[in-house]
Amino acid sequence: MAGEKKALVFKGIAASPGIAGGPVYQLEARELKLPTHRLSPEKVPEEIAAFQRALEETGRQLEAIKQRVAREIGEDKAAIFGAHQLVLQDPALVDEVEKRIRQGTNGAQAIAAVASELAEMLAQLEDEYLRERAGDIRDVGERILRNFLGVAEASLAHLQEPVVVFARDLTPSETAQLRPDRVLAFATIAGGRTSHVAIMARSLEIPAVVGLGEKVAAALPGAREAIIDGTRGEVILNPTPADWAEYRERKERYQEYNRRLVSLGELPAQTPDGHRVELYANIASPADLPGVEKVNAEGIGLFRTEFLYMDRNSLPTEEEQFQAYREVVERLAPRPVIIRTLDIGGDKDLPYLNLTREVNPFLGWRALRYCLDRPDVFKVQLAAILRASAYGTIRLMFPMIISVEEVRRARAVLAEVKEELDRRGEAYDDRMPVGVMIETPGAALTADILAREVDFFSIGTNDLIQYSLAVDRGNERVSHLFETFHPGVLRLIKGVVDAGHGAGIPVYMCGEMAGEVLATPLLLGFGLDELSMSPSSLPRVKQVIRSLSWRDARQMANHALGLNTAGEIKAYMERCLGNLKLD
Ligand code: PEP
Ligand code: MG
Repeated sequence: MAGEKKALVFKGIAASPGIAGGPVYQLEARELKLPTHRLSPEKVPEEIAAFQRALEETGRQLEAIKQRVAREIGEDKAAIFGAHQLVLQDPALVDEVEKRIRQGTNGAQAIAAVASELAEMLAQLEDEYLRERAGDIRDVGERILRNFLGVAEASLAHLQEPVVVFARDLTPSETAQLRPDRVLAFATIAGGRTSHVAIMARSLEIPAVVGLGEKVAAALPGAREAIIDGTRGEVILNPTPADWAEYRERKERYQEYNRRLVSLGELPAQTPDGHRVELYANIASPADLPGVEKVNAEGIGLFRTEFLYMDRNSLPTEEEQFQAYREVVERLAPRPVIIRTLDIGGDKDLPYLNLTREVNPFLGWRALRYCLDRPDVFKVQLAAILRASAYGTIRLMFPMIISVEEVRRARAVLAEVKEELDRRGEAYDDRMPVGVMIETPGAALTADILAREVDFFSIGTNDLIQYSLAVDRGNERVSHLFETFHPGVLRLIKGVVDAGHGAGIPVYMCGEMAGEVLATPLLLGFGLDELSMSPSSLPRVKQVIRSLSWRDARQMANHALGLNTAGEIKAYMERCLGNLKLD
């Protein structure tokens, strides 16, 4: 078209395959910038009036949300917003903010400080009910602050039409709120391929590109429409008619390709010379099960249970968890479900737990470390999992193990919970296998010792790579160093498989590497017994396994282990896959 403006094209990290285009919706950064000035006495009445207006606006918003939630989700879920409305009348908040404004603190600073101090105080209390109110105060405090500053809320809940979402970053719980019918695709400035945002996008089957960097942030204000290609890792801002035409073609090709792969259906993941590998799916909640059914996964290799704890204001009860686990287990039975105990911390926060901010959260109070220190939380989950084990086949898995002592302590808590269930007369599978994730170098290098204590291993490559290469899995600045094919990573994996098999236990993999086709010949050759991945990756991996003899795969794996760099290994794997003529 004459005079047509050129579109802006950006490269990021391909996080979740597929392609989609539509209007741009920009999600604001969560951090609010607070003014730092002090108030002169004559400004005080104005500031107090502005605070009152913010309270009123907040009240109106909460009422609207309460009514919508009651209508669409249920009265019980709406009750929380009633509690939030009460906070607006709480003198401990309102009077204190006004007092500080009168003393010269600007309104924004006063609201932020009072809400945070109040929440902090409640969080310290013994009483569980009051402790939970800390989260309410934080939420409402933030809402008042936004209204005071006139900054719209960062929220995906109110989307009216399908959009492509751009954000600086998304927390795992924000990602969990993405509804595939409203969010066509999304792109983030930050994040790496194995950040939990990317993993969630794959399980929701929403095309996504992450780690786009600052150039995109600068270009976004003028963007009305965008195309996001999650397979190529490409984002086009303000596409031209020619871009849209190409987009439609690519989209059709992708859908056709997917249909062909899914039609592999019930065929087993077996090499032409008869070697069988089990292909399982990773899920975060029962809502992911349709995707699992679509690709005929043979089991669940990783149920990331922490997502049951997100997007709410208090810990899920034993009964709530039991219902979720039971639903998954019954739907899958007799196929196995590997349930991993709570892996919180790192990039997965639960605001209502009020975990203190850590300098290095990925090296901190995370996963099993947290659970062993909080047996009250841990035992509730173990009881729910054990009870669900009476309804199908569950294997229990502990994350982030670094030592035999941890395994023994976790098993001791499990034994206590079993005794408790015996006393309560509850049924469970007393022979439920117990395994551990191998996702720290410490565990990988002592796998022979750990293998004597457990029934299976599952290699978590996302963390194993992050910890062995010292590369933050969610930091786009160093994402080029997050190298799945690093020779050191391959040696660790091979060592774990050999140690597990040497001790007679199966070795699985549930990190993202399990779903990367470039790695499939290697993993096959190393002898992994089961690979678990986002359902959308499964058909393609199956296609590779069905096209490659086990003999050749072992040779390829041996050859790759003799190479010197990740680049050489990847180039070699690409040649191997190219020879298979898959498409
Ligand atoms: C891993 O670390 O590879 C893994 C599967 O666990 P998560 O991604 O949930 O940390
Ligand atoms: Mg992990």
